[in-house]
Amino acid sequence: MPLIVQKFGGTSVADSQKILAAARRAIRAQQAGNQVVMVVSAMGHNTDMLVDLAQQISDDPPAREMDMLLSTGEQVSVALMAMAVEALGAKAISFTGAQIGIKTDSTHTKARIRSISTERMRKALDEGRIVIAAGFQGIDEDYNITTLGRGGSDTTAVALAAVLNADACEIYTDVDGVYTTDPRLLPEARRMTRVSYDEMLELASLGAGVMHSRSIEFGKKFDVPIHVRSSFTDIPGTMIVAESEVPGQAVGGAALTKDEARVTVASLPDRPGTSLALFSKIASKNISVDMIVQNVGADGKADISFTVVRNELQNTLRAVEEAARELGAGGVSHDDNVSKVSVVGLGMATQTGVADRMFRALAKAGVNIVMITTSEIKISALVSREHSQAALRAVHQAFELEKPPVQPVVATTSQPPAAPSDVMAVVRRLQGMEDLTIDDVTLDDHQARVTITGVPDTPGVAAQVFEEVAAAGVFVDMIVQSYGAGGKADLSFTAPHKSLKTSLEVAERLAKQFGCRGVTYATKVAKLSVSGIGMRSHTEVAIRMFRCLATAGINVEMINTSEVRVNVVVDGAAGEKALACLQAAFQDVRG
Ligand code: ADP
Ligand code: ASP
Ligand code: MG
Repeated sequence: MPLIVQKFGGTSVADSQKILAAARRAIRAQQAGNQVVMVVSAMGHNTDMLVDLAQQISDDPPAREMDMLLSTGEQVSVALMAMAVEALGAKAISFTGAQIGIKTDSTHTKARIRSISTERMRKALDEGRIVIAAGFQGIDEDYNITTLGRGGSDTTAVALAAVLNADACEIYTDVDGVYTTDPRLLPEARRMTRVSYDEMLELASLGAGVMHSRSIEFGKKFDVPIHVRSSFTDIPGTMIVAESEVPGQAVGGAALTKDEARVTVASLPDRPGTSLALFSKIASKNISVDMIVQNVGADGKADISFTVVRNELQNTLRAVEEAARELGAGGVSHDDNVSKVSVVGLGMATQTGVADRMFRALAKAGVNIVMITTSEIKISALVSREHSQAALRAVHQAFELEKPPVQPVVATTSQPPAAPSDVMAVVRRLQGMEDLTIDDVTLDDHQARVTITGVPDTPGVAAQVFEEVAAAGVFVDMIVQSYGAGGKADLSFTAPHKSLKTSLEVAERLAKQFGCRGVTYATKVAKLSVSGIGMRSHTEVAIRMFRCLATAGINVEMINTSEVRVNVVVDGAAGEKALACLQAAFQDVRG
């Protein structure tokens, strides 16, 4: 018999009428011949209220007790939902995370799922019951209650769909699908028919709160098609599947992380091991950092900047200040008034003219870019928070995301997951469900680096640089703009060797025009990429890379991260050596 997982978010179970409506929907699915597992979130803003209550008691409540507290929200919902289903004449049984055997690690408030046992759920389903599972929670080895991180019920739902080999995983929420950007921020945003796992992963981790990003990791890893749709209507929503809506499209969506913070460590010794020392301190607190950039200093010193979500700033600063002292750095500064605007698209990797279009749009809107990082499928710009809305709108318009896609789209409906080609491989992966999986470690040593130093703090410089570089026919790969106190930003990019001369001509001309300090370059750099699933949420990936490169005496010049890949740029002569050491370092987690 087909099996459907239906997840109902907070607004979809906010009051008794909504709970009854969700119960009716599940019963309809059962009557249509399906076994049904419901995953429910806490009612309305219950979780926020519990967080608030804890904060009234303590500034720094123990994480274990936060989990004990927050898990109660979902427990209320499952009980009421089971009562609703029974009241409507069908059979139901509610389960907490522990009762369905969702085993996690012990990282309270951000626990990862290790395994899920299916016997109890299967038995109840076979008895004709609708199974109602509490989202967002699990239990560790010592029977402590854990939670998966805010928004984690999506992850419970997709994980259950994966282990039960469900035919459909439906996410019922207060929007009728995934939009090109948050429709609450930009009403002109367009609902997508379909979005690829990789794009959704990136969008979710860059601020598209409609899905918990780790749920998409599950979807991708276990081939679960995810259908995001409204709990208030019957219209089909958005399918999250392997293919994107318009294959080859440069930009499919935009996202904003409004509450971001920048941290800069000044005058760090520019030698192997520095990044390792700094970032391993932060990773040990399970904080994900983004937008790591450094100014390559002429005096053997470098400034390293990165961003974290604003509510992790204090925790981050504690770790960073300790590392800065140990490393003899110049000092630590921060700015918690910044936002990150990003565009995402699978086609970006093979097209020119994407970065300059985004930077031009920001310049036209009068928005200054504080930092830039890119990866194969995204470009992020850090801007001041007061400009965040204007920045998002400017880039959304620049890529005409509000317009229907040019290529006709074949509508997709919920479809069964593709049969796994290697059943044993899937079973093996189910052992450590959220473990890191590495697909590949590669080297590209056909590139050169160009850096414009001392770039002034005014809108439009990056736009012009990349417009002119693109007009000269250069295919730019990585772009990084560091944070520069007092107009000392560096703007670096990598491009193929053969384009170095052309790139330098453009860079030198524009450096003069804008009154920059100068231009430096490296004829040959090596870009090393580690790709897989969970690359950013597993904070240890970058750390492993830093550790192995530091041990081999190799200095990291540039870094960029995405959900599916971490890239580092090192000196070209060290490429092969770096490749060998990274391959060895990730041997144990190869998929
Ligand atoms: P639930 O409680 O159902 O899990 P959430 O509040 O977590 O719902 O997620 C739904 C919200 O996500 C929407 O109301 C919308 O404002 C927000 N959102 C952010 N980015 C997007 C996007 N790209 N598409 C759709 N919704 C988005
Ligand atoms: N109730 C939890 C939260 O608000 C989990 C969820 O809704 O997904 O974060
Ligand atoms: Mg949610």
